[in-house]
Amino acid sequence: MRTLVIADIEGGALKPATLAALAAAAAIGAPVDVLAAAGSVADAARAAASVAGVDTVLAAEGPAYEHALAEPLAALIVGVAGAYTHIVAPATASARNVLPRVAALLDVAQISDILSVEGPDTFTRPIYAGNAIATVRSADPVKVITVRTTAFEAVPATGGTATVRAAEGPAATTGGAGRSRFVSAQLARSDRPELTAARVVVSGGRGLGSGENFALVERVADRLGGAVGASRAAVDAGFVPNDLQVGQTGKIVAPDLYVAVGISGAIQHLAGMKDSKVIVAINKDEDAPIFQVADYGLVADLFTALPELDRAL
Ligand SMILES: Cc1cc2nc3c(=O)[nH]c(=O)nc-3n(C[C@H](O)[C@H](O)[C@H](O)COP(=O)(O)OP(=O)(O)OC[C@H]3O[C@@H](n4cnc5c(N)ncnc54)[C@H](O)[C@@H]3O)c2cc1C
Repeated sequence: MRTLVIADIEGGALKPATLAALAAAAAIGAPVDVLAAAGSVADAARAAASVAGVDTVLAAEGPAYEHALAEPLAALIVGVAGAYTHIVAPATASARNVLPRVAALLDVAQISDILSVEGPDTFTRPIYAGNAIATVRSADPVKVITVRTTAFEAVPATGGTATVRAAEGPAATTGGAGRSRFVSAQLARSDRPELTAARVVVSGGRGLGSGENFALVERVADRLGGAVGASRAAVDAGFVPNDLQVGQTGKIVAPDLYVAVGISGAIQHLAGMKDSKVIVAINKDEDAPIFQVADYGLVADLFTALPELDRAL
């Protein structure tokens, strides 16, 4: 048995989600290597090599890997897959793009979004928007796995002394000429912490009534040093951009504190936040389902409660 973890890299830097995938890999119990691929990979490879428990870092670099396009990355992974029984990646947008392609090319079933490792071939994962947890056993020779990062405690980023070895995929020699090409990226810039990594998240729903009113949510989030999230209804109504969406079809978060304001608590929203350590709900409807998962519930009009909370903070 041997496990390959696919590093999540952005702007040449190793992202913390990789450390949660490494925790899942450690639980599998086999030696762990990391594959780092980027336009310029030296920094990320060095960071991966210093993570405790990593044996070897395979570093692939070149223009083909600059934008994490699925075709060249999948070809690279499949090229080295023969040495591994497990291929593991954090369930980020990038890995969700690449790993199904890897699984298809290897002709195995992907095991998505695992919550725990019960054994080398047995894992738990959420189904029905998180309303049930399935225990799945795979008989495939290679397990291709994505990891729900909020379910695993990140391994320490230091203490390791892995060897770094250059890896080359077929794409590196062909210039990555695949069926897709990178056109452009529009990056949202924010001084607030990233939604999936924030310790505090304050989310607003349709109850806010407009994009302008989201300023009330933002002020409280800033007071708490938190990120701003939203329900899908708030996103669909155009109040906020869709990268703020929390839920089944948005981001999965599990902060220390989640404040849901003017959010009813539909199961698809709960699927993205119910593992938060402390949940606070502010809603004027005392029967709103959000109160069933809330540790603290305030039945109040948010237009009174949020300014009061802001002043108190
Ligand atoms: C396949 C699928 C995937 C989905 N994925 C997601 C997802 O990822 N994330 C997500 O969030 N949803 C998702 N949804 C949508 C989900 O079902 C709900 O429609 C949505 O979450 C509702 O958003 P909301 O709670 O903001 O709006 P509503 O359900 O309209 O609730 C608004 C709440 O605000 C309260 N309110 C109104 N005014 C005030 C006030 N002045 N003060 C205090 N409270 C007030 C109301 O009492 C109400 O509870 C999905 C649906 C489907 C079918």
